[in-house]
Amino acid sequence: MVRLIDSHTHLDMPQFQKDLHGVIERARNSGVVAMITVGISLDSSEKALEIARKYPFIYSTVGCHPHGAHDLPGEEMSRLKELAMDPRVVAWGETGLDYYRDRAPRDKQRACLRQQVALARECRLPLVIHDREAHDDVIRILKDESAQEVGGVIHCFSGDWNYAKKCLDLGFYISVPGTVTYKNAEIQREVVRKCPLERLMVETDAPYLTPVPYRGKRNEPAYVVFTAKKVSELRNMPLDEISERLTENTVRLFRLTGL
Ligand SMILES: [Zn+2]
Ligand SMILES: [Zn+2]
Repeated sequence: MVRLIDSHTHLDMPQFQKDLHGVIERARNSGVVAMITVGISLDSSEKALEIARKYPFIYSTVGCHPHGAHDLPGEEMSRLKELAMDPRVVAWGETGLDYYRDRAPRDKQRACLRQQVALARECRLPLVIHDREAHDDVIRILKDESAQEVGGVIHCFSGDWNYAKKCLDLGFYISVPGTVTYKNAEIQREVVRKCPLERLMVETDAPYLTPVPYRGKRNEPAYVVFTAKKVSELRNMPLDEISERLTENTVRLFRLTGL
């Protein structure tokens, strides 16, 4: 039996509203021993924590996604910090930069990221970083703001090996989603082959980025096993063994207890 952790999912999203319990059951039956449900706003962080409080194997994060980047007013910040103190909250994020969709002005995204690195340090929580086509700025800000003090993960890693090395040098982990199973993902597969095994994790980012063979359908945490299978193939290691290592890494970064 494999033992996997979905290191990044969004169980609070409306796509899961109707059958959340079934989604969680299916994940458990597929060997997913834990899930980290990630907040993208104050409202979503509250919902994520609510879910994490109901299931001993679900943990949550708090943060503000770059799509909704804004200057966090004092009130919002103190509420997020309050949530962050809950023992079920294991990381700050997702925060970061998205220059692909550019839904919020880039200067706002950068300011919001800086603010949240400071908050993560204050709360002593590792960071969950979202980065699309913003590699240089992400690394620069993480360095400037001493993010290595708390560490974290670059989730849905989309850079090349050269960029991966910079993230690893900063002490960050690299998390790979289902896109690694897509035909055109050779750059991502190279990162998976070369990344030190003790810094790699897997995620779904469900309900998005569904791996093959379910590409095109809603993603869910149970499908993290298809990503792990691809990683086992690329690393030439048996699935149960690679799963154990990926799980260890996730437990270590997020200091998960009670598994
Ligand atoms: Zn993201
Ligand atoms: Zn996400």
